[in-house]
Parts: sequence; structure tokens; C-alpha cells
Amino acid sequence: MTDTKAIPCSEAVRQLWDYLDHAIPPEDQEKVEKHLSFCRSCCGELEFAKEMRAFLATSTAQEIPPHVKERLERFVERL
Ligand SMILES: [Zn+2]
Repeated sequence: MTDTKAIPCSEAVRQLWDYLDHAIPPEDQEKVEKHLSFCRSCCGELEFAKEMRAFLATSTAQEIPPHVKERLERFVERL
């Protein structure tokens, strides 16, 4: 029996980038998805992450800019 109980915001945000990269197992992917379906604050962060990814895809930068990482870290700290 698979227990798909909700994960906390901190975990969802930490997995956000890997989630967008599909770098996490399907069951984790599902957990993040589930969390985002009901959590408004993380949804805002997801939109931000998506935009950043789109930006990165069109730029030559390979890494997440430090200020973006910082923003995500600060978001997690506020939780
Ligand atoms: Zn959340």
C-alpha cells in the first residue's frame, strides 16, 4: 500500500528544481505535485522557478544564479 501523505512546504520547495528537471523518482514527483495542488505559497514559488528555468534555457548560464538560490533558501526559512 502506498502512503501518499502530504509533504511539508520545506520539502516541496527543496525538490522544486529537481521536480522541474524530472530528476526525482516518480513517487516524489507525485508528492510535490500533490503539495502544489493545494499550497498557494509554493505555487507562487513554482511559477517563479518555471520562469527562471525558461530564462536559463534561453541564456548561456548553466547554473541557477546565486540570487535565485538565495531566494528559494529564504523562502524555505520563512516556512
Ligand atoms: Zn507549500
